[in-house]
Amino acid sequence: MTVRTRFAPSPTGLLHVGGIRTALFAWLVARQGNGQFILRLEDTDQKREVKGTDQHIMDCLMALGLEYDEGPDKKGPHGPYRQSQRLDIYKKWADKLVASGRAYADPYTAEEVQAFRELAQKSKKPFLYRNHRPENPAKWDGSTPLRLKSEPKAYKWHDEVMGDISTGPAVIDDIILMKSDGFPTYNFAHIVDDAEMQISHIIRGQEFLASVPNYLNIYEALDINPPIMATMPHILNEHGNKKLSKRDGAKDLMDYIKEGYLPEALVSFIATLGWNDGTTQEVFSTKELLQKFSLAKVQRSGARFDERRLLWVNGNFIRSMSLDQLYEKVESFWPEPAKNATTIYKKQVLATVQERLKYYAELPELTQFFFLDLPLDPQLIKQNKQLGKLSNEELKKLLTVSKTELEQSDFSTKDLTDRLNSLLNQTNQKPAVLFSLLRISITQTPSSPGLSDTLSVLGKVKSLERIESQINAL
Ligand code: GLU
Repeated sequence: MTVRTRFAPSPTGLLHVGGIRTALFAWLVARQGNGQFILRLEDTDQKREVKGTDQHIMDCLMALGLEYDEGPDKKGPHGPYRQSQRLDIYKKWADKLVASGRAYADPYTAEEVQAFRELAQKSKKPFLYRNHRPENPAKWDGSTPLRLKSEPKAYKWHDEVMGDISTGPAVIDDIILMKSDGFPTYNFAHIVDDAEMQISHIIRGQEFLASVPNYLNIYEALDINPPIMATMPHILNEHGNKKLSKRDGAKDLMDYIKEGYLPEALVSFIATLGWNDGTTQEVFSTKELLQKFSLAKVQRSGARFDERRLLWVNGNFIRSMSLDQLYEKVESFWPEPAKNATTIYKKQVLATVQERLKYYAELPELTQFFFLDLPLDPQLIKQNKQLGKLSNEELKKLLTVSKTELEQSDFSTKDLTDRLNSLLNQTNQKPAVLFSLLRISITQTPSSPGLSDTLSVLGKVKSLERIESQINAL
């Protein structure tokens, strides 16, 4: 079998993380099987379409490296890859169903359907269109919806993720295939397209699972073998109690890219939303995913989206880079005052924060004190748990002793480390007191990288100058 998977988003808004995960899994399955990955834009609901989102979808896929082989902006043997440009194809397949007596023109107005619905409610029966099939349907001329003439029956099928599923005949109904505006419904169009495009695997969200029996009915009516199906679990908020929504902080994927998240880290994080390889490994390179991913190991229950885990994964990727690699990547993220600094200095600065950097856009906040003297902020000392307890005199004394000791240093990291340790003895203070005080004096920010590294990179003149300013301010 030739593996052909597709990602079939509707251009109705920004791509959400669930959509991207579907795309990623479909891409992985295609690449693992030496097959093809196809992008198909499902733009049959013209009212819901949001301009520009088709480009956004393509940008997201490109940004993550999920290259597709066929798609709206690429040539391919089964195009066009936009459903709105395939109307004649759906019409052809619809006509086939009409000819075989498996579809009929829907004669009812919305009010009539509503009346049927109310009637069913009153008699406490589920409402089914098939109970109201017209006896002699008019010839379908496209001005009314076209409905499937369903054949109610029980189904059993296998879903690669959800396992074996069976349903009874009651869920089968005469669903709409073509709308009166000439566009097909999703229910019909995706079946036609997947067949025409020779798709081997349908990988999609859970919202479609309940409709599968009706799809199976359509496949039979069209005499098509259904592709392999794999239903993705929901993505839940970080507490795991609701479906993820924008309010839970899930951002547009392109925002993550803009803030300096690595595409590989995003891919790893998204892949592990509902999948793991059966070990405790949490971070995967794309190469590893290609070796290890399988639909069979996708979990059935919802997967939690926890942005802190994304930060952690991204930090992992940042730490695993060489300094030179990282330096190249962060080029556009330096704070403004770094623009005149030398490459050597910036690399030294970067080395001090590489361990702690979680995404590139954090760089200015973490490093700006290396490039400019920040105004003295008395709150930093006052609000510090340990330092807040000391009087100005005590603080001044600690800084003065430190300054005297550091004046004798050559400012190599090794010498600084030794002297800082000896200062702890001299002052009989804990690191949480003395080092915090020095850190604040030197950086005017609440946290900073290792003290001796910071001092060493900042240099003797600047460091002593800043300690002096802090003494004077106290
Ligand atoms: N257009 C559908 C959606 O955006 C696609 C579902 C499918 O993959 O078949 O959810």
